[in-house]
Amino acid sequence: MDRYDVIIIGSGAGGGTLARRLAPTGKRILLLERGDWLPREPQNWLAEEVFVENRYVSADTWYDSDEKPFQPQIHYFVGGATKLYGAALYRLRERDFEEVRHHDGISPAWPISYDEMEPYYARAEQLYHVHGSRGEDPTEPRMSADYPFPAVSHEPRIQQLSDDFAGAGLHPFHAPCGVMLDEANMPYSACVRCDDCDGFPCLVHAKSDAEVLGVRPALEHPNVTLLRNTQAVRLETNPAGTEVTGVVTLREDHQETFAADIVVVSSGAANSAKLLLSSANDRHPNGLANGSDQVGRNYVFHNSVAVLALSRDENPTVFQKTLGINDFYFGSDEFEYPMGNIQMIGKSQAPMFRGEKPVMTALAPTWGLKEIASHAVDFWLSTEDLPLPDNRVTVGRDGAIRIAYTPTNEEPKKQLFKQLKSMLKHLGMHDDLSPRHAYLKNDIPVAGCAHQAGTCRFGSDPATSVLDVDCRTHEVDNLYVVDTSFFPSIGAVNPALTAMANALRVGDHIEQRLGAESATGATP
Ligand SMILES: Cc1cc2nc3c(=O)[nH]c(=O)nc-3n(C[C@H](O)[C@H](O)[C@H](O)COP(=O)(O)OP(=O)(O)OC[C@H]3O[C@@H](n4cnc5c(N)ncnc54)[C@H](O)[C@@H]3O)c2cc1C
Ligand code: SF4
Repeated sequence: MDRYDVIIIGSGAGGGTLARRLAPTGKRILLLERGDWLPREPQNWLAEEVFVENRYVSADTWYDSDEKPFQPQIHYFVGGATKLYGAALYRLRERDFEEVRHHDGISPAWPISYDEMEPYYARAEQLYHVHGSRGEDPTEPRMSADYPFPAVSHEPRIQQLSDDFAGAGLHPFHAPCGVMLDEANMPYSACVRCDDCDGFPCLVHAKSDAEVLGVRPALEHPNVTLLRNTQAVRLETNPAGTEVTGVVTLREDHQETFAADIVVVSSGAANSAKLLLSSANDRHPNGLANGSDQVGRNYVFHNSVAVLALSRDENPTVFQKTLGINDFYFGSDEFEYPMGNIQMIGKSQAPMFRGEKPVMTALAPTWGLKEIASHAVDFWLSTEDLPLPDNRVTVGRDGAIRIAYTPTNEEPKKQLFKQLKSMLKHLGMHDDLSPRHAYLKNDIPVAGCAHQAGTCRFGSDPATSVLDVDCRTHEVDNLYVVDTSFFPSIGAVNPALTAMANALRVGDHIEQRLGAESATGATP
């Protein structure tokens, strides 16, 4: 059996970042990834292929609580979901780390404060080239450093929208964005500012994803090994159940077991829960590290809606995801509970509407789909969904994932939508808003699991949490989880930067535990 210092299972926002963090220590690191490199091919930038043919969505079948099968919006590639993400790299707000009262109940406090996470957010923003502008977002948390790169500029139509929102008394801001764009020196810019970013892979590797900025730089260190197309299927422990002794993997039909002093699971919130639940043994009859019965519970993924508004004028914007609004994040004078975040999403393209034609025709009966797309201004509204014990991931006898999920905070979601609608009406937009299912892939809401989190939450009490504050399982000494599973609550901003920052935080801890010091002194 091959033995390593650290095995990391999954190479997305959590695992890819951790690999990059630990690579300079010189320790032997094995990164196991069930997917392959995402192919660089013209189809990366074809809306029809990406949004209609689901070219990069996994072929998995999961089931809802009624045993209804669905294809989850999940991506098995080196770099994980970040290969397709919109790269809106937000920090949670200070108050998101505290207990917050919502319309439908309590969003629980985290076991660490924002201040403890802050330095890691700053490091993650450096590592992932976040572009932004401080001092514009009224809910912006305290930041020890400025954004490392200037904000991505608004194109004229979005600048006008921003001015109009500001004129109406709101505080629109430049959204924090992870693209390697150098507007001051475009001939040398890696990012070409195209309209195929949010939800698409980046053909020119200019998106700040976990493959490009996590895994690839980690692999420059000879002590790091990546095994692709290699799925971890079970974790074995010593007889006492206190230590993981083997990671059993499948590569095509070939089974192989690897061992390491430290094993880190980072397979995405649903798949990490699946791996622990599938690793039940005599000492852990309900699943590995699941004495608390918390593994798989408190699954959250944001109560979101993607909508388009029709503007009288054309909207020729190419890169639209530059604007955010957080004026309603924690409530308003009319509605006392948190409502959430409004941001732009990638610009509508006509092929994305295939299958949504009836809805679009109802919106503008005399317009063709191309015309609708050219007048569309597209928004994404995110309301926090609350962790409920019965919203949970389980594994069926057939080995497939089951997700039981009842939405929460429907009323704040409606209120946020109402706010947007009334603002747009005053700005001369069509006063109807149409859902954009293709973006969310949420005809079956539970399938829109892009922002999944919370199945192995961290906490100080082993009775109510799976992980301790270092993201080590309470019950198995050498087992850690560093993907979004650790979130005790998700806030209402996009989760990836928090997963990246936390991976750097856990990386510091693991480095210490290994008694290692970064050989180059240049840890991210
Ligand atoms: C279309 C889309 C747009 C998004 N936009 C944004 C955005 O703008 N901003 C933002 O913050 N977030 C966004 N997200 C969410 C963000 O990408 C995720 O929150 C983040 O990637 C989660 O990181 P993770 O490490 O938990 O999981 P992932 O990044 O999904 O990584 C998990 C990895 O584990 C691998 N894996 C799974 N099971 C196994 C196994 N058994 N063995 C080995 N490997 C395994 C997977 O292949 C994958 O590579 C978006 C997601 C999608 C899909
Ligand atoms: S906008 Fe930039 S980062 Fe995004 S896909 Fe296009 S080139 Fe890549």
